[in-house]
Amino acid sequence: MPSMRDILIGLAVAAAVILIYYQTSLLPLVALAGLLFLLYRFADLRTSRFSTTVGKPLHKKGKAVAFDQIGGQEMAKRELLEALDFLLKPEKVREMGIRPLKGVMLVGPPGTGKTMLARAAANYTRSVFVSASGSEFIEVYAGVGAQRVRQLFSRCRQKARQEGKKSAVLFIDEIDILGGKRGSHSSHLEYDQTLNQFLVEMDGLNSGDEVNILVIGATNRPEILDPALLRPGRFDRIVQVDLPDLEGRKKILELHLKNKPVDPAVNLEKIARETFGFSGAHLESLANEAAILAMRAGEDTIREKHVLEAIEKVIMGEKVERKPSEEELWRIAVHETGHALVSETIEPGSVSSITITSRGKALGYIRQQPPEDRYLYTRDCLDHKIAVLLGGSISEKLILGNQSTGSSSDFQQAVDIAKKIIAAGLSSLGVVSIKDLPKGLLHRTIQEIINQQAQWVSSLLSGQVDLIRDLAAYLMEKEKITGNLFREKVKGQQKGKSSQAVML
Ligand code: ADP
Ligand code: MG
Ligand code: ZN
Repeated sequence: MPSMRDILIGLAVAAAVILIYYQTSLLPLVALAGLLFLLYRFADLRTSRFSTTVGKPLHKKGKAVAFDQIGGQEMAKRELLEALDFLLKPEKVREMGIRPLKGVMLVGPPGTGKTMLARAAANYTRSVFVSASGSEFIEVYAGVGAQRVRQLFSRCRQKARQEGKKSAVLFIDEIDILGGKRGSHSSHLEYDQTLNQFLVEMDGLNSGDEVNILVIGATNRPEILDPALLRPGRFDRIVQVDLPDLEGRKKILELHLKNKPVDPAVNLEKIARETFGFSGAHLESLANEAAILAMRAGEDTIREKHVLEAIEKVIMGEKVERKPSEEELWRIAVHETGHALVSETIEPGSVSSITITSRGKALGYIRQQPPEDRYLYTRDCLDHKIAVLLGGSISEKLILGNQSTGSSSDFQQAVDIAKKIIAAGLSSLGVVSIKDLPKGLLHRTIQEIINQQAQWVSSLLSGQVDLIRDLAAYLMEKEKITGNLFREKVKGQQKGKSSQAVML
């Protein structure tokens, strides 16, 4: 396809030939052409800053990443791999009449391997990799952002064609900058235009295209994304990329120490334990620092003391959030165990995992498997939810003798559910209008609902103090356990003293 430039050059040559033919003086025209050329270059420069960054990998230049170079993140890898079928089998997808998957959103803190995952996806699907960051789209000049979005998509197609590939992975880091809620920025018009253009481009992607493009976005703040981005047909899939747990940290350390001379006596398990809260990027820098320290000490191998010193260095230098104290961790473990035990008692098999690695604002959490989608809740069902929420703080009280601020969001949720019970006419008040209830009465009714559950949970857990201690200690050691392991442990403990089996 001839570009604007080719056409201009062609025209100029034709004009020159005609003018020479008619023996006109060319000098003023040459000067004019020179001037035009300069102007053209100038205009080009204004937009070219972008085209030079696009496509160049942000860190390691052009280095292909394979999935097995990414430590931990098993779940994220699995979910991403599933999504990649859409790139690998476009014919099949079309045949089946499946709406093509156009976007995957990787959500998680910095340095956890989101960029690596996107690169690995490109590598695995033999696609070209094009990357950009949300911040590159924001310009003061109206329309520039939208233009850059268009360039970016056409760059994917162009690059794939050049390299003879059928697909492209377009990675957009910090997509929240580009895709924040519309109308929420001060210079909103420019942002909105850019985001609109982005949505238009995504909607235009089709499984019948010559080059299939999969857009992979990365963000640490999914809550500020414009809902339009997450609508079906855009970023259909959200993949959590969390800080690595103990197992993950160990794998990442192994990966980054593989090519370094490490003293076999170094206990990686121990190092992984010491690096609670570290991201993959922190661990990479830890491995590097350890090697530097060993070299400085004039030694040939990296020894444990170097690694331990490097941990301090990374923490000080990079402001890793300090790990909670042992005491706090114990409290978190006791708290989460309480939630989990109540949940299992009410609905065996409902806990799918328990962890004490913080994530977002929560210090620890249990993941529950919803048995099925529910649209209607009975009073029992809502009571059960309240009971599970209370399990955390009641467990703290039983084991540690006091409670902590860590339960305030549990309580808030419990109160919200109690209000729902009242509003639905399921409380002792019968059918009422919440907003017309005297404040005191509302308050008392909420108390009544919650206290009833609190009593039940207290009597349940007070019979299981030893079990809670054992489970919490196990959780402390492992940081994260699956629901199955949890159930096995519970069973094992109960067999020991079968007379005290939980009957509820
Ligand atoms: P993000 O995009 O999530 O901020 P990156 O993918 O850019 O993180 O990771 C930065 C660096 O940290 C990588 O180049 C790699 O050295 C290291 N890293 C991060 N996560 C992992 C991981 N899961 N396995 C191995 N290395 C990792
Ligand atoms: Mg990154
Ligand atoms: Zn809790």
